[in-house]
Amino acid sequence: MEAARKATPVTKTIGLVAHDNRKKDLIEWLEYNIDIIKQHNIVCTGTTGKFVEQAIINKSTAQQAYNLKITRLKSGPLGGDQQLGAMIAEGKIDIMIFFWDPMEPQAHDVDVKALLRITVLYNIPTASNRATADFMISSPLFQFDYKPEIKDYSSYINRKLT
Ligand code: PGA
Repeated sequence: MEAARKATPVTKTIGLVAHDNRKKDLIEWLEYNIDIIKQHNIVCTGTTGKFVEQAIINKSTAQQAYNLKITRLKSGPLGGDQQLGAMIAEGKIDIMIFFWDPMEPQAHDVDVKALLRITVLYNIPTASNRATADFMISSPLFQFDYKPEIKDYSSYINRKLT
């Protein structure tokens, strides 16, 4: 599968989500990588977005302005994960960083599963932990145009129903 790649950097839309026990990890990762992240658009579930705004944007100084472009959706358990999934299905998300909690069940586990499923279905690069996020952000593909190949589902769409 060939990935289309252009020579000029492009602005991507990055979905950022972290469960409560992993929000601190996400903020640390963002702070470390802020110079790259700030060149892109960010879409967060509600509380993750609030946390990012408090931790990063409010820390901006005149010398170091973090003009992060953040869109905040509803909180994950209140439909935010489903909103993100819908954006993926509509081709509006290029990358997902989703630090989900491996130690605690979530009230909205079915939504989490649905979101992770849709990232696989649409071949969206997805990091569930910092190591994977590090690999992703240091890939040249992070900055360049990359159109993930999507499987051909036409035989499924056109299946005969009896
Ligand atoms: P939150 O949602 O950002 O509103 O905490 C996270 C999640 O989807 O579980």
